[in-house]
Amino acid sequence: MTELLQPDAAGIGRAADLLRAGRLVAFATETVYGLGADAGDVRAVAAIFSAKGRPRFNPLICHYPNAEAAFAHVEANAAAHRLAKAFWPGPLTLVLPRRVECPVALLTGAGLDTLAVRVPAQKDALTLLRAVGRAVAAPSANRSGEVSPTTSEHVLADLAGRIDAVLDSGPCPVGVESTVLDLSGEYPLLLRPGGISLEAIVGVVGRVERGLLPEAAQAARTLRSPGLMVSHYAPALPVRLDAREVGADEALLAFGAPPAGAGVVFQLSESADLAEAAAKLFAGLRALDEEGRRRGLCRIAAMTVPGEGLGLAINDRLQRAAAPRN
Ligand code: AMP
Ligand code: MG
Repeated sequence: MTELLQPDAAGIGRAADLLRAGRLVAFATETVYGLGADAGDVRAVAAIFSAKGRPRFNPLICHYPNAEAAFAHVEANAAAHRLAKAFWPGPLTLVLPRRVECPVALLTGAGLDTLAVRVPAQKDALTLLRAVGRAVAAPSANRSGEVSPTTSEHVLADLAGRIDAVLDSGPCPVGVESTVLDLSGEYPLLLRPGGISLEAIVGVVGRVERGLLPEAAQAARTLRSPGLMVSHYAPALPVRLDAREVGADEALLAFGAPPAGAGVVFQLSESADLAEAAAKLFAGLRALDEEGRRRGLCRIAAMTVPGEGLGLAINDRLQRAAAPRN
């Protein structure tokens, strides 16, 4: 049984007790719902991997109520301090060397000598993290490789019966995952575009390398960030990108005015607003997948989204959704 908890004092208290007891609790962040466990409890962390069906080489992000708590577990450099000041709480994950005394289980970081840390900008999540008083490991609360959840209904559709509770704080306002930035090398390296735009990060740290976006070879990607598989965020129906027209056997993910003849349409943003589109992206993929399959359609056709700002993260998720399945 999976408990559905309300985000009042009793519900958050119950969620914190469960996490401290080594159980799995999904909770909303500003990006997507995370599947939380005590990051220092190797059995709890192992349970995350098995509930999601996630490969063990794919490291988890640790969540903290503030930068001070995060930087007690990793060695923060000057860039990390500047970025934390500019964007935390918020959808930016920093990869930094683990401190020797870091109590986070090695399994959480998939055995790497770095750890991914972040402070989410969601008030219930922050209350929960303060109440737990430990690092909380939390990947997205969906089955591995599938579409990320932005509501508690999405979480239950994927994980009901496999996790102990969901803290229901309503829909996630950002809608795409955090930007992952590796600060452990000579230059900041963008590992995953996300809720904080590359332009905003460049504005704070100047230079950012971008070796590992979808167009880069998978081999290179697996070396530096083992979890960033090419096929990910995938609905059951295949996805076709850059659709300018739509076939009778396709469901359309629209961004702005749709082409004539579209039957099943999910509109990401009528006014072509990237923040609105990001917030609706995963709900749109889920809705089209469900309705498209119900009507016997063959494919999801996705209209072009411009590549700047949040569009970089949206296109990254769409390209992975469209990539050949493993
Ligand atoms: P998820 O929690 O599913 O949103 O995925 C988090 C992503 O962050 C993983 O897929 C990894 O690629 C990346 N990540 C987490 N920890 C590290 C790390 N220590 N080094 C590099 N990438 C990491
Ligand atoms: Mg995920």
